[in-house]
Amino acid sequence: MPRYLERFGEVPPTAGLPLHRADLGWPVGDADADLGAALARFLDVEAVQIECSGTAALVVALTALQRLAPERDEVVVPGYTCPLVALAVMHCGLKLRVCDVRAGTLDLDPAALQRLCNAQTLAVLPTHLGGRVADVATALHCARRVGAWTIEDAAQALGARAGGRSVGTRGDIGFFSLAVGKGLSMFEGGALVVRDPALRRACAQASADRVPRRAGWEFRRSLELLGYALCYRPVALRWVYGLPLRRALRRVDWLGAAGDIHGPTIPLHRVGRWRQAVAVRALARLPEFLAQCTEQARWRCDRLSRIPGVQVLGDSDAVPGAEGVWPILLVRLPAQVHRDGVLRAAWGNGCGLSLPFARALPDYPGLASALPPLALPHARDLAARLLSISNSPWLDDRRFAMLCDTLTEYCASAA
Ligand SMILES: *Cc1c(COP(=O)(O)O)cnc(C)c1O
Repeated sequence: MPRYLERFGEVPPTAGLPLHRADLGWPVGDADADLGAALARFLDVEAVQIECSGTAALVVALTALQRLAPERDEVVVPGYTCPLVALAVMHCGLKLRVCDVRAGTLDLDPAALQRLCNAQTLAVLPTHLGGRVADVATALHCARRVGAWTIEDAAQALGARAGGRSVGTRGDIGFFSLAVGKGLSMFEGGALVVRDPALRRACAQASADRVPRRAGWEFRRSLELLGYALCYRPVALRWVYGLPLRRALRRVDWLGAAGDIHGPTIPLHRVGRWRQAVAVRALARLPEFLAQCTEQARWRCDRLSRIPGVQVLGDSDAVPGAEGVWPILLVRLPAQVHRDGVLRAAWGNGCGLSLPFARALPDYPGLASALPPLALPHARDLAARLLSISNSPWLDDRRFAMLCDTLTEYCASAA
């Protein structure tokens, strides 16, 4: 075990907000357990609908849209994104249309998007990956032209803003994830924002019709949230996160190591009062935590981009006034050999190195058979060259400097 890991413990792969003991009390009144209202204030929107995961929030949104336009059955998603997005689309019986990204960015490629949108399109999903603000205007333009809706996937971007407004609020619908590792966490949870009041009622109705109570699931999630509150600290993370990670790396199982393996079923259930109350109390600390992470990201991005061959991904250049959040720093290396070299050298060292996603969407085992052969050169380029560095405050300056040295060493071989 590396000396640093032994002394200081494990850095989580993303900057999640740690819970405090005082967050865990029973709610004293209804307002105390109304996460929807608390998030609506935080995001400065009229209402927020709480679901049991980001994936569930997407399922609810797609279900509502399907009822409004039953003749439409295609959903356009980026070629490099969370495989759960594809599962949600397939869960609804809809067809995936995978769109390449613009070279070297996380934005949907405008020309490719234009080609994919037609009278069958139900929704387009621009995605704010890793806290980076993505181009929503192009998606809105392409979707509106064919009568489709835009759903902003802001799962990894709670707190990110563009032009002073929260991401997720420019498109017709936006959703955030409250899962482990995505900023504010209630172990698993999702938040849905819907701009138009009539569409908002349709989403609430879809949830009321499709999402059962299922106390067993909520009980399980409550225990898991308690476990998370106890274990989300460097010493305990060595066992609950680091041990399985290093086991997966020994098997050279990068899908497992990246946390990219998901069961085929999507649990759908209501979120109980206690977990909502925990998140409401933690949310009060989120603005300060995000500000701390932004400050750390600022100088670390600067430091990383001075390494020859390293490119740090920023907010989309197509979005004026973008102010993303920084759960991770997304780094693109000259080629896959360098990226893989860095991962082999340091992924298991407890310093917060990881892969955002291990593959381009069509290259996941469960999805290849559901999709026709697709070119997607730019999405595959990201899958081959990107890595993520945790922006957790627990990644101290010494260990960050060691990571920079490793990157320098492996990129030098590219020159
Ligand atoms: C995590 C994630 C989701 C799904 O959210 P869950 O809360 O984990 O269900 C969707 N999209 C992206 C980009 C994600 O990172």
